Amino acid sequence: MEMVDSATDIETRLSSMVEVRESRIGGKGCFALKPIKQGEIIHLLSGELLAGNEVDTRIISGQSRPDDELQIDDDLFLALDEPSYFFNHSCEPNGGIRNKSELFALRDIDAGEELTYDYATTVGIEKAPGWILKNNDWSMECRCGAESCRREIKPVTSVPEETLQRYLNVQAFPDFIKRQLASSLPSLNTAIF
Ligand SMILES: [Zn+2]
Repeated sequence: MEMVDSATDIETRLSSMVEVRESRIGGKGCFALKPIKQGEIIHLLSGELLAGNEVDTRIISGQSRPDDELQIDDDLFLALDEPSYFFNHSCEPNGGIRNKSELFALRDIDAGEELTYDYATTVGIEKAPGWILKNNDWSMECRCGAESCRREIKPVTSVPEETLQRYLNVQAFPDFIKRQLASSLPSLNTAIF
């Protein structure tokens, strides 16, 4: 029982850092309820676990859109629940994803700021057998308003190498993406893994 209690305490503490409301980026977004320090966990993104072909089936049937699920391994996704679903993309994000689905602060964040991450950092390029759609085809129009906005967001290898290196230097990639980058972009300095 003690284990359950402490897990609930952590969840309560994390969810109390985030508020969902209307966003200028689009639709709803997640906002910081209090100041968050650089490196601190913002939220553990969670949801139902799905394999790649299950995600494809949902997209083909119209049950979900191609950018609704978060990829967390070569052939594993999360159908995000609330508030995880409402974190918006930004091309100049204040958060990043590390480990499997841990959103953390890339810099100090003020209370009231919208919390974002770069969706491309979680979209892999290698396709496991059994998938129906091609992951490489994924793209999303972006109007995040950042000076460096890429306009069209695509899988991780579409991100300019200097931006990838900046994310690498602060470990702002899930583990499976680090593995995929190390094999597909050997010019990156991946020694810090
Ligand atoms: Zn953008």
